[in-house]
Amino acid sequence: MKMKHNIEDFEAIGNDHIGTSSDTPMRNDAFKLTTDEKIDIIKDDVRHILETLGLDLTDDSLKGTPSRVAKMFVKEIFGGLRPDKKPSASTFENKYKYGEMLVEKNITVYSTCEHHLLPIVGKAHVAYISNGTVVGLSKMNRIVDYYAKRPQVQERLTIQIVKELQEVLGTEDVACVIDAKHLCVNSRGIRDVDSSTVTSEFGGKFKEKETRREFLDYIKLDTQF
Ligand SMILES: [Zn+2]
Repeated sequence: MKMKHNIEDFEAIGNDHIGTSSDTPMRNDAFKLTTDEKIDIIKDDVRHILETLGLDLTDDSLKGTPSRVAKMFVKEIFGGLRPDKKPSASTFENKYKYGEMLVEKNITVYSTCEHHLLPIVGKAHVAYISNGTVVGLSKMNRIVDYYAKRPQVQERLTIQIVKELQEVLGTEDVACVIDAKHLCVNSRGIRDVDSSTVTSEFGGKFKEKETRREFLDYIKLDTQF
């Protein structure tokens, strides 16, 4: 059963950007419609918003906008809602017996704030310590990108990335730090251009002070090529 909130609750959640669960809240009928059916419906909805705002959608520049936005929502910026788009979980045996921490840093994050539908742009730093299984390096970038392509709160995104890698790698020893700008904070509302939000999730050995320190030191390295 769904919990009932009053409007004040939504306002409070929206303004403070507090997430409520590590799972993206999905409806039971989320995948009853095909991708094309969703695009058709959203196209009409976007047209309705723009017309309500008073825009003339027969104008050459605007007439393609509803279908452009609908496709972008379904296939691109919210494409990570689709389970079939989840990166495949191919792993390898750790043949070279590398037992130290592996850090993939400065992974570009393009996500969307679910409270305002405005961009979240930043960097994710992901690390794990192998217990015998390794993943291809780009898999970490793909996992970040998959979960970023949803309406998100940064806290949930951070946790979802860690949980997915823990599952794929079969170890708790996974960590993620995300440093990102939220355009809903930078470009509207309080309009603080310079602020960014840092979130972190530390699993297994990363809960230990020294391991955590090592990870944080690596991501501070100013790598220039
Ligand atoms: Zn927001």
